[in-house]
Amino acid sequence: MEDRPLTLGAATERVKQLRADLTKYAHEYYVDDTPTVEDYVYDKLYQELVDIEAAFPDLITSDSPTQRVGGKVLEGFDKVTHDVQMYSLNDGFSKEEIYAFDERVQKLAGRQVSYCCELKIDGLAISLKYEDGVFVQGATRGDGTVGENITENLKTVKSIPLQLERPISIEVRGECYMPKKSFVNLNKEREEAGQDIFANPRNAAAGSLRQLDSSITAKRNLSTFLYTVADFGPMQAQTQFDALEELAEIGLKTNPERTLCKDIDEVWAYIEAYHEKREQLPYEIDGIVIKVNDFATQDELGFTVKAPRWAIAYKFPPEEAETVIEDIEWTIGRTGVVTPTAVMTPVRVAGTTVARASLHNVDFINMKGIRLRDHVIIYKAGDIIPEVSQVLLDKRPADSEEFQAPTHCPVCDSELVHLDEEVALRCINPKCPAQIKEGLSHFVSRNAMNIDGLGPRVLEQMFDKELVADVADLYFLTEEQLMTLDKIKEKSAHNIYTAIAASKDNSVERLIFGLGIRHVGSKAAKVLAEHFGDLGTIAKATKEEIVALDSIGEIIADSLVTYFENEEVHELMAEFEKAGVNLAYKGLRASQLDAVESPFKDKTVVLTGKLEKYTREEAKEKIENLGGKVTGSVSKKTDIVVAGAEAGSKLTKAENLGVAVWTEDQMITAIEDSH
Ligand code: NAD
Repeated sequence: MEDRPLTLGAATERVKQLRADLTKYAHEYYVDDTPTVEDYVYDKLYQELVDIEAAFPDLITSDSPTQRVGGKVLEGFDKVTHDVQMYSLNDGFSKEEIYAFDERVQKLAGRQVSYCCELKIDGLAISLKYEDGVFVQGATRGDGTVGENITENLKTVKSIPLQLERPISIEVRGECYMPKKSFVNLNKEREEAGQDIFANPRNAAAGSLRQLDSSITAKRNLSTFLYTVADFGPMQAQTQFDALEELAEIGLKTNPERTLCKDIDEVWAYIEAYHEKREQLPYEIDGIVIKVNDFATQDELGFTVKAPRWAIAYKFPPEEAETVIEDIEWTIGRTGVVTPTAVMTPVRVAGTTVARASLHNVDFINMKGIRLRDHVIIYKAGDIIPEVSQVLLDKRPADSEEFQAPTHCPVCDSELVHLDEEVALRCINPKCPAQIKEGLSHFVSRNAMNIDGLGPRVLEQMFDKELVADVADLYFLTEEQLMTLDKIKEKSAHNIYTAIAASKDNSVERLIFGLGIRHVGSKAAKVLAEHFGDLGTIAKATKEEIVALDSIGEIIADSLVTYFENEEVHELMAEFEKAGVNLAYKGLRASQLDAVESPFKDKTVVLTGKLEKYTREEAKEKIENLGGKVTGSVSKKTDIVVAGAEAGSKLTKAENLGVAVWTEDQMITAIEDSH
């Protein structure tokens, strides 16, 4: 807001402009899932509108963004009318606003109240209906009154139980989100595949949930935290804090970081603590939600048209910094995608020094209007990945320079192309050294052949010295050849040689993933290996046979068939065979699993702490081969926690929940005794 009070005429004009901008931004955010401005930009404009409307109440209209919740219902989905409206939350951006909220509450309630503090998960609001304990319908918030029916998509989200622990009929509400790790991986994959990337985990979650094909949603690794119910009828809890406990008891996933605060000072301490911890959480939060704990007091306070009076969302200030674009580098990925990277004057953002940020593709640079030597604001998407948010046009220097998109590959000089509808530029020369080097790095990486000691620099030298021209050549290297590389002496040459040799025994899904076939991730590789048994059979499989598999779609099937039609691929396979690389699946096939006798069979296991004898990966593989499921976090559904040295919070949680805790030795004995 301006310092001078606005005249009615100026206010009317400004309100019109703000509403037009906010409506456009809300459409991009809620309907298209592709925002063009940061949330705090939206929030600032929104707050300005709230302030003007407060000063000129006659200007309020029912279609003002301040009077409405959320977005519109997408075409293509059935509509769901919510029995009980789904609300938004009022925001607070400063300590003063949080204390003012407390004052208002105390005044209305006539007494000091306690608060339940929860993390504000940056996802998408959902509502889940259970009848007699069975999941029957799931919906988005939509405009609060009418949402989209996304039941089939929500059924693919593993944390949503299809059956509750109690046969009650209830509508629960919460947030569906994408964990930071999945967001990073998804964007990496999309960038490699030449697709647009998601701006943040929230948009990625929303885009994933609003898919007409639920098999896509299933692959997106979404999760949920539930935090309230539409109607408390079937619940016993009388407070928000107890309600969260009760939701957890009936089998729903709730966020464990909640806390009960006896007054607003404790609330503020919680906010500060989580502002610090925010980056370490595996999911993104954009603030803290503060709710009056006691339901009776909540009822006294009631709702405005848009949000409860008994709650407020404290929004964290944006973590951003200003810097200068010094250069734009173009790099070639494994699949030939050419990615521009901004090289910037190093600055600190949210705890780390940032000097580079991906600019994704030419369209992105044009959309943001980025030029060399521009001053820009950067922030971290999903708290992790540095992104350029905007150019500071008023600081644009006279010598700023428009970038030149390359027409030829900066490495092999072949002409770059746009494939199909892709936004990305690609080098399609299969012999491009940059792609081969990236392919080598991928081949030896942890989820692929897992060969230690072969960092990008070593691989680059091998390639440049013509010791390897493709991935199979690694298996024909001698220790003497390795010793011709810079800084590789006898001992490391021996270690590398041994690591390469050991990888020959890997089960074949690692090799399949390592080949870097487009769209074939490590999960698909496992499904293929388990079903077909060996690489030769996969190479001969028809598209129909491949799509018949659960969780493998047309895109993967097409990609596999095209890949194995290639003559060079068969030469590569012959090389592997000659080198003695295992081409068969070594795990148990589904039909063999029935015969397994093991304490791990059908059990959910969590590994924590340092293991001495096995790596986590090895232990996971062994347990999975014995019919167990290895997950990352401890819950009531966990059957066994294997705690190595220095186990931390997962061990404590297991003890609190009464989950069986095993030592590494107990695990090894159990693995050895299984058959
Ligand atoms: P909100 O995100 O400010 O808060 C309300 C929502 O918080 C609830 O609906 C719920 O989904 C969620 N939430 C998460 N954890 C919760 C918890 N523990 N308890 C209760 N609720 C919890 O409101 P909104 O209406 O969903 O979205 C408005 C916000 O969206 C704006 O403040 C802005 O930041 C963003 N937005 C951005 C743009 C843009 O262009 N960038 C456009 C529109 C909206």
